[in-house]
Amino acid sequence: MMLGDFEVTAISDGAASLDAVKLLNEPAVETEAALKDVFLSNPVDSSINAFLINTGTKLILVDTGGGAFLGPTLGKFQSNFAVAGYKPEQVDEILLTHMHRDHVGGLVINGKVSFPNATVHADKWESDFWLSKENLEKAAPDIKPRFQGVVDTVGLYIASGHYMPFEAGSEILPNVRTVASHGHTVGHTTYVIESQGQQLWLVGDVINFGAVQFDHPLVSSSFDKDGEEASASRVEIFSDAAKERALIGAAHLPFPGLGHLRATGNAWQWLPVDPSSAMR
Ligand SMILES: [Zn+2]
Repeated sequence: MMLGDFEVTAISDGAASLDAVKLLNEPAVETEAALKDVFLSNPVDSSINAFLINTGTKLILVDTGGGAFLGPTLGKFQSNFAVAGYKPEQVDEILLTHMHRDHVGGLVINGKVSFPNATVHADKWESDFWLSKENLEKAAPDIKPRFQGVVDTVGLYIASGHYMPFEAGSEILPNVRTVASHGHTVGHTTYVIESQGQQLWLVGDVINFGAVQFDHPLVSSSFDKDGEEASASRVEIFSDAAKERALIGAAHLPFPGLGHLRATGNAWQWLPVDPSSAMR
């Protein structure tokens, strides 16, 4: 679809089934009731979406899918990227919302960088956290592979001088602004892309379980490093984006993960884009 003069393409990495009852930080009965309310039941499907923005002069990719890290229903980003008609060498800039493996995995293929001409951008807090030996040693055994995942992906771009960390709250590229939305991870970032007065907010994992968290935005999940901070970021980002009447692109809402937010008291209504508008 178009955003002003920019072309926006959502690229699917696939979907996985998640145990929302186990993963959400609230009593099981509440999650079950919230799912029933929206005609779903546990487990729920979760998409993994990445976004490609063609400004006419630059090709900007936001997140890269899980690559070879995750199960057989995922890792489809690279083939879908090719179907969209682009070649990896054409990508100029890669913006990471954060460095969990479902966002950085597509940076490499068979141990080599997938995007040889691209510069990777992310919040300095994020790379400092994941590349710290001290943090790796302190991490629980099931979390340790996440650290190695960053070394094996972002690490290759750092080694070749293709990594540019930033402090959120600035314009890092023309028409691209960063907004700190920490909590899910220590340096989680929302990217605001603007063309002709229209805004696209790429919110990454500000929301993981749309079926529950639009109606109950203060419910965090065990994917969040700091659940309270993640919930506060969700409320702040959604409030601001709704006020702007911005288009939203989310990593884990049903593909293509593009839509608008309407504030309804202390909650939000998600209005997905009409796919027919993208087919004109
Ligand atoms: Zn994610």
